[in-house]
Amino acid sequence: MPQTYTLFQFLEAYPDDDACLDRIMRMKVGKDPTCARCKRKTTFYRIRKRRAYECQWCGFHVYPCVGTPFEKSRTSLRKWFYAIYLFTTTRHGVPAKELERQLGVTYKTAWRMGHIIRKLMSRVGTQILTGEVEIDESYVGGRRSIKTGRGRGAANKTIVLGMKQRQGPMLTYVIPDVKRATIEPLIMQHVAKTATVYTDEWWAYRKLRWRGYEHFMVAHGKGEYAKGRVHTNSIENFWARLKLSIRGTHIHVSGKHLQKYLAEFSFRYNYRDYPDKMFAMLVGSVALPA
Ligand SMILES: [Zn+2]
Repeated sequence: MPQTYTLFQFLEAYPDDDACLDRIMRMKVGKDPTCARCKRKTTFYRIRKRRAYECQWCGFHVYPCVGTPFEKSRTSLRKWFYAIYLFTTTRHGVPAKELERQLGVTYKTAWRMGHIIRKLMSRVGTQILTGEVEIDESYVGGRRSIKTGRGRGAANKTIVLGMKQRQGPMLTYVIPDVKRATIEPLIMQHVAKTATVYTDEWWAYRKLRWRGYEHFMVAHGKGEYAKGRVHTNSIENFWARLKLSIRGTHIHVSGKHLQKYLAEFSFRYNYRDYPDKMFAMLVGSVALPA
């Protein structure tokens, strides 16, 4: 069931900067905190006028924003949270111009904030895929369409390897070529050995059984597209949406830019039905080590 995260829900949860700081503090020390200095179970009390809290027993100060993107930012925490909120409720990302307009910050600040939020998206997007996983590569960007198969004619295009857990997350990586030596290590790094893997018949996938995976191939060459559970429809669907989005946003996608764009697009795609979870993950990720 798709969920919603309304602006009203957001405003109720974060009415002011203090509420945002409390949220960051909770992520840093947990629900049931222990003081790092006196080692006792404690309650941290807010120190007024500073972004800090104090241990009830020993007076130790904790600054929860240290080490987060907010630490050196002059932009208020609430504006940061609102920017993250905007990113979780849009379909195609938030242009700096719109952040500038909605937050009342300079274009330069808006651009930086967008950049940082996209970075958070790429950090929370990595995980190990399990269960049934479809794997495929696609050629993205450039002007010429490819009708000549893998490799040939792909000069203008960037190659992307996609790994899609059915009913689960999608991972995407820009790769330099479609050789087994390139593709196989990425699969082994991101797909659990217990997974069942579905691909087409490309050479690079043919030794996955040797690597310990249960592996089935779709015989696209014979005009087959699905045989029961053996298909790559979920990942094909992702490619179609990705290409529509790239066309729709008119961004220049190549190399490094594409990897960032993919991270954002995949993250949004993975959590598209759970905007509240998307928000929680992004805000939660600021507490992770950089
Ligand atoms: Zn203490």
